[in-house]
Amino acid sequence: MTLLKDTLKHQGLRNQLVKSLVVKGITDKKVLDAMALIPRHLFMDSSFENFAYQDKAFPIGANQTISQPYTVAFQTEQLKVKAHDTILEIGTGSGYQTSVLVALKAKVYTVERQLELYKKVTLFLPKLGYLPKAIRFGDGYLGLPEFAPFDGIIVTAGAPFVPKELLSQLKIGGRLVIPVGIDTQVMTLIIRTGNKDFEKHELGDFKFVPMLKKKN
Ligand code: SAH
Repeated sequence: MTLLKDTLKHQGLRNQLVKSLVVKGITDKKVLDAMALIPRHLFMDSSFENFAYQDKAFPIGANQTISQPYTVAFQTEQLKVKAHDTILEIGTGSGYQTSVLVALKAKVYTVERQLELYKKVTLFLPKLGYLPKAIRFGDGYLGLPEFAPFDGIIVTAGAPFVPKELLSQLKIGGRLVIPVGIDTQVMTLIIRTGNKDFEKHELGDFKFVPMLKKKN
């Protein structure tokens, strides 16, 4: 079994990373504290440990990446998570974003479509001690109707369009944070203001791996 080792050196690098996120405009103290807490290096292959506290995305296998810390901070801030909120994450990947949400005391439901990553993260998160309510192998385009409605939904892959299923699984007042686009994505915040009413905000350009259809 691999040893999950966090050290003062890692904590120091993490504090520096968090400071750089403040410089880039992240202000939510709870989000910053959560990111200062989660040992990001443990979500990556140990040979790449030195890259863990740079503000960059990084390969995690199956052609996927762990999101850039700034992107994680930005999306999480937009969700406005309160303790005990139910949050749906599309694209579990390494489980890093999941852990940040768990550290914010959210009840997290997360979906991953790559079997290899799903299996890995299902073993890893319990060892680390950041436990979502459920990790599912499946197609994020469908959301998780059995656990809906959600206070917040976060999509961590670039979606070609906003899936209707995700809109319908938001509570009134709930927030969907989704990068929309093919080559580059516009970070889009959608707030459900009524049964059939949604408010849309565009929050700038980002770059994500694509949100793909479920493999059969
Ligand atoms: N939140 C992750 C980011 C991983 S990158 C982290 O913190 O590490 C995006 C993830 O979305 C990838 O793991 C990819 O396999 C997954 N993904 C892509 N399309 C998907 C879909 N339709 N349903 C669920 N997950 C999907």
